[in-house]
Amino acid sequence: MADNKSFKWFSNARCAISLTYDDGIGSQFLNAVPQLGRYGIKGTFFPSTWGLTNPENREKWKKIAADGHEIGCHTLHHPCSDSFDFVKKGYSLQEYTIDRMEKEINDNIETIRGFGYKEKELVFAYPCGQTAVGPRLSVSYKPLIEKMFIAARGTFSGYAKPGEFPQYEAPCFGVEEDGQGLINIVKEAEKTGSWAIILFHGVGGDYISVTAEAHETLLKYLKGNKDVWTARFGDAARYIKENV
Ligand SMILES: [Zn+2]
Repeated sequence: MADNKSFKWFSNARCAISLTYDDGIGSQFLNAVPQLGRYGIKGTFFPSTWGLTNPENREKWKKIAADGHEIGCHTLHHPCSDSFDFVKKGYSLQEYTIDRMEKEINDNIETIRGFGYKEKELVFAYPCGQTAVGPRLSVSYKPLIEKMFIAARGTFSGYAKPGEFPQYEAPCFGVEEDGQGLINIVKEAEKTGSWAIILFHGVGGDYISVTAEAHETLLKYLKGNKDVWTARFGDAARYIKENV
């Protein structure tokens, strides 16, 4: 296990921050993407279901890929436990096998490649943070993810300390904070030399939302901040893997 004290962040920053956006929902196109562009910050998108496959979004994803954002895999059908009422009939994790998951993820990758997304190493985010399939959710699909991706984001809440967190289930902060609350997450990462992965859903709309103003307040804090390395999820994961 790495000696955390000797670990140095890229460019002598005190910490790393990754901004991740799940499900490919409308308010992200409307508010988050233009703001990221204005502040010159790159994010990581984990689109799924209609947000990913809606033909109307195709040009938007092509532009997001061309602009240098990361597009990760979050499956095509967003399978979660059948205990969630939003899970589509026939698409609960209880009804999945490893083979079915592998096929779906391969289709997911093909879809993303169809947007012109060229990054060689890909990243994954577990739908609902759940990592197992089968009638009793007893078969882990993490080994499949380890085979196919460079890193994966879970949904456990907390900071990722280099050398200590699981590369294939990195923790994050699912946020509904105001601007100051978002900045406070970053400040704590600075204090502890950690990687803070922020998980956004709605930005100025949709669900589990922050306001567009809160999102912009965070970007203002991050822009040009030499103490904070704002990195795409895969870039930070790769850097940690190579440097711990
Ligand atoms: Zn999701």
